[in-house]
Amino acid sequence: MIIDLHNHSYYSDGVLSPMQVVRLAKTQGCDVFALSDHDTTAGLVEARTEADAQGLAFVAGVEVSALWNGATIHILGLGVDANNSVLQAGLQRHQTFRRLRAQQMARGLAGAGVANALEKTQQMTHAPTHTPMLTRTHFAQMLIQTGVCKDMKAVFRRFLTHNKPGGVIAKWADFDEVIRWIHAADGICVLAHPLRYQMKNPKIKRLLASFANAGGDGVEVVGARSSAAEIQRVNQWARELNLLASVGSDYHGWANQSVQIGRLSALPEDANPVINRLFSTTQLKEYAR
Ligand code: AMP
Ligand code: MN
Ligand code: MN
Ligand code: MN
Repeated sequence: MIIDLHNHSYYSDGVLSPMQVVRLAKTQGCDVFALSDHDTTAGLVEARTEADAQGLAFVAGVEVSALWNGATIHILGLGVDANNSVLQAGLQRHQTFRRLRAQQMARGLAGAGVANALEKTQQMTHAPTHTPMLTRTHFAQMLIQTGVCKDMKAVFRRFLTHNKPGGVIAKWADFDEVIRWIHAADGICVLAHPLRYQMKNPKIKRLLASFANAGGDGVEVVGARSSAAEIQRVNQWARELNLLASVGSDYHGWANQSVQIGRLSALPEDANPVINRLFSTTQLKEYAR
């Protein structure tokens, strides 16, 4: 059974429409698929409609930015009710900050000699059907396409973080508040990509412990690039803290990225899969046929 619970569409920083990304998941052999755009649920209706048409089990997701001790983390809400007003009020707040931040990023880049970054980025990402959300991915792709940097790694080394040009202090909600938004919408809270926060192991464990303490439900144990050792390590933490185990590629679909949908290692035998909280065994059997 192929499960992928972390994917992006052009409603945030992915390239494909929700319909296209669901079709690709189907082509890749996925049985269970979640769309989880950054701080928006705008693509979920289109994705669910297409998933139903394709006979794919669909999970309504969202990847919410959050702060833990001042550091940005990402919390996946899986199986959310997108009509919930608490969740939507929270996402609105983040979308407002994103609009303000885009202007601040552009000002910072201008100071480093990159003129009209906002306009250039908007032109590059313009598509009539999607919400005008500008993420750092969009600015990064603009910097690559205009020849300022050679790849994403180079962008995030020189720009858009900390005290670098285009870096803006993140004003996301605190993680415990984000957990409350997702729970209000009946969603399951999963800490995304725990090994990508530039924290050493003891700090990641502290993060996971306070996440679990605040009511967090699970952690992404398997990602697109996870090694066997990494999977074992995160699974062990999950077991110690009684957290569910999730699986997701974090597919975005830019031409200069190699991550594919649904190409993920299996969870360890002793993991407690989050999927069992989202679907019954009978439902999963139906979809896997
Ligand atoms: P934002 O939520 O607007 O701050 O943008 C964060 C997004 O930028 C992440 O979800 C990634 O898609 C992308 N990103 C952040 N850091 C890196 C990196 N070092 N390399 C590649 N992509 C990155
Ligand atoms: Mn992203
Ligand atoms: Mn993320
Ligand atoms: Mn993501």
